[in-house]
Amino acid sequence: MSACDVAVVGYGPTGMVLAALLGAQGHRVTVLERYTGLYNLPRAACFDDEIMRTFQKLGLAEAIGRGAVVQRDYEWVNAAGETLVEIAYADPAPCGWAQLYMMFQPHVEDVLDRHDKALPNVEVRQGVTVTELRQDEDGVVLRGTDAAGAPVDLRARYVVGADGGNGLTRRVVSPETEDYGFQENWLVCDFRMSRAVPGLPSFRQVCDPAQPTSIVTIGPDHHRFSFMLNPGETAEEATRPERVWARVSRYITPEDAAMIRVVNYVFRSRIAARWRLGRVLLAGDAAHEMPPFLAQGMCSGIRDAHNLAFKLDMVLRGQAGDAILDTYRPEREPHVRFITERAIELGRVQTMRDPDAARARDERLLAARRARQAPEKLQFPALRGGLIANHGGLFPQGRLRHGERTALFDDLVGPGWCLVTLDPALPAALLPEARGAWDAIGGRVAVLSPEGGLEDADGTYRDWFAANGGTAAVVRPDWYVYGTAGTAAGLAALLEALGRALRPADALVAS
Ligand SMILES: Cc1cc2nc3c(=O)[nH]c(=O)nc-3n(C[C@H](O)[C@H](O)[C@H](O)COP(=O)(O)OP(=O)(O)OC[C@H]3O[C@@H](n4cnc5c(N)ncnc54)[C@H](O)[C@@H]3O)c2cc1C
Repeated sequence: MSACDVAVVGYGPTGMVLAALLGAQGHRVTVLERYTGLYNLPRAACFDDEIMRTFQKLGLAEAIGRGAVVQRDYEWVNAAGETLVEIAYADPAPCGWAQLYMMFQPHVEDVLDRHDKALPNVEVRQGVTVTELRQDEDGVVLRGTDAAGAPVDLRARYVVGADGGNGLTRRVVSPETEDYGFQENWLVCDFRMSRAVPGLPSFRQVCDPAQPTSIVTIGPDHHRFSFMLNPGETAEEATRPERVWARVSRYITPEDAAMIRVVNYVFRSRIAARWRLGRVLLAGDAAHEMPPFLAQGMCSGIRDAHNLAFKLDMVLRGQAGDAILDTYRPEREPHVRFITERAIELGRVQTMRDPDAARARDERLLAARRARQAPEKLQFPALRGGLIANHGGLFPQGRLRHGERTALFDDLVGPGWCLVTLDPALPAALLPEARGAWDAIGGRVAVLSPEGGLEDADGTYRDWFAANGGTAAVVRPDWYVYGTAGTAAGLAALLEALGRALRPADALVAS
């Protein structure tokens, strides 16, 4: 039977990024995917700055950026075209990249696929459907069948189920799911543009009770129109090309674009009750599904992958006990829940079919917008539980100057745990024992001062410390801040607490 450190079930965006991150850390990864090739059709439309920073970590930002377009705003209008909600996206955003990119998902997946397959320690086995998972003391045995029907057996130390909302691993790990009950039936129609269409909205929800519609750019050459299906309307009827062209005729004609796909989706909102059972963990849609009104489903899956990748890396290297994996759900679940609830709230605004209720909604939102006077800004919560001492926010990525070179923080400092400080005296004051423990987890030290050799080129970190307090931050490999300190004693206490949190413990539990 073949063996690996981590088996990833499912080769959607979550599985692809997880394999790439673990592969970069040198672990033996096997991905099992039921489809024989890439799906090759778009689902997600956009991703945010944190996800672009993850692509940067993989060395793929430039290649992925070639199939993405920066988006500045997101607009919600009523049937009369009045703006009800307006969200402004920053460029650059805190992670050093634009806050939103509209993408063509097959391009992104193609780049990730080529990257994964080029890694010598990552094996991608397409055409293998996993049908059984059995755990013992040392690992998990996965059973399945390949495209020819032949049996496949694999042993892994850990398994991550990234096999989507209807996959096997969720049924194994968490037969119970919490369902928010927000379930909507939409028609998603994708087009390849043949020419530019002046005035075509790039990211707009049309909250028309007669026909809720969403219009989205998906990458440089494609556009998506989505329509909420009417009560009693069947998918068969709605997907007929002449029906689709009639629906989009207000915006485009066959001279402007070619229809590449029409599909009926039921948007769901569910969160698995459990994200871990022993050595099997859930990530991405396998752990949570949300409606696409905030465009965060895939982004959340990639955040899961990043969170799990650094924790699995530490466990596999013996730098942390297996119990660190129990911090995964307490960190990720409230974050996902916040976004899901906000997406449902927006979805309810969008999908109102009763004209009187829609009129009342319009009046309320127009008044709120007049009172606000500026577009809303989207902000996600800090991590509150898990492997966090006193902070949990996302550490920004600004530009640093090092000699003649000015570059983004991550490119100059590198990946992994990082102690960032404006005060050169702080790391020097650490006792050898604390310094040794930090070195043992591969921790880096970035002193942002002329003495430290790294200059805060745009004042990003001066401003961040001024707003957050302290002069040192212990930043995790996924860029969430473990804690901040303002004195040598405070920093020593922080690193000691981290050492205790990472201490090996044997229990394999469900969380
Ligand atoms: C219309 C629409 C628009 C969206 N827009 C956005 C957006 O703009 N931004 C955003 O972030 N998100 C968006 N999303 C959500 C996003 O598409 C999903 O959250 C994301 O694709 C989930 O990725 P995943 O890798 O977790 O799962 P999936 O993409 O579902 O991949 C799971 C994989 O597992 C495989 N698999 C399943 N069972 C098995 C098995 N037994 N054995 C082996 N393999 C198996 C499947 O074949 C599949 O390839 C949108 C979704 C929809 C429907």
